[in-house]
Amino acid sequence: MGLIQANVTHLLLDIEGTTSSIRFVTETMFPFVRQQIDDFVDAKRNDASALLVFDQVRAEAKRLGFTAAQQADPAIELRAAVLFLMDRDAKVTGLKKLQGMIWEAGFLSGTLVAHVYPEVPDALHRWKALGKDLRIYSSGSIAAQKLFFGHTIAGNLLPLFSAHYDTTIGGKKDVESYKRILEDIRRPPHDVMFISDSVEELEAAANAGLQVALSRRDENPTLPTHRFPEIRSFDEIELL
Ligand SMILES: [Mg+2]
Repeated sequence: MGLIQANVTHLLLDIEGTTSSIRFVTETMFPFVRQQIDDFVDAKRNDASALLVFDQVRAEAKRLGFTAAQQADPAIELRAAVLFLMDRDAKVTGLKKLQGMIWEAGFLSGTLVAHVYPEVPDALHRWKALGKDLRIYSSGSIAAQKLFFGHTIAGNLLPLFSAHYDTTIGGKKDVESYKRILEDIRRPPHDVMFISDSVEELEAAANAGLQVALSRRDENPTLPTHRFPEIRSFDEIELL
């Protein structure tokens, strides 16, 4: 305990590779979309707002070269379009919306339960009890972050967080994003510690003046050499 001592009032946390396993996203959340797409499309076939998203996904796939089989059933065509986009890791709005809708249904029904590392819930509660302000900054949308922390293996952790940021405030490797977050927090940079598994994100945060710690979970990919303090668990941080 207490390998890193930090005198901060606020903690800003990354999700993937920091509070939670990267593998949960790649091995559970994305495959969940593939597993659920048929049932979801069937369940929403009379839902006007869902149908608009389905049309958007079809258009995005076609724009990227997808061609449907002649006279294909619309549901089968949509499924093929979704898989086409996911196989290409296409960062397109319609697909993201559709994935978000499927994850929402999964979290709300309890078929999808978010991963957090074992020590994370107790550490967050301990920090909160010390009067620290906890916030999330992730490339996943704020809506997705809230679903995620509202439905974890350790229960609902959402009340622990006082704010969420996503890429609408700017990219995570961009120093300006951290300056904007500091403006929102209204504290001097040194009062805030950012924890992430990405050296590039820490570079940007450190350049904005934040304290930083690198999350080096055993399963995370190997990293380039860097100048930041490292933790393997949230228990290695002692807040003053
Ligand atoms: Mg990360």
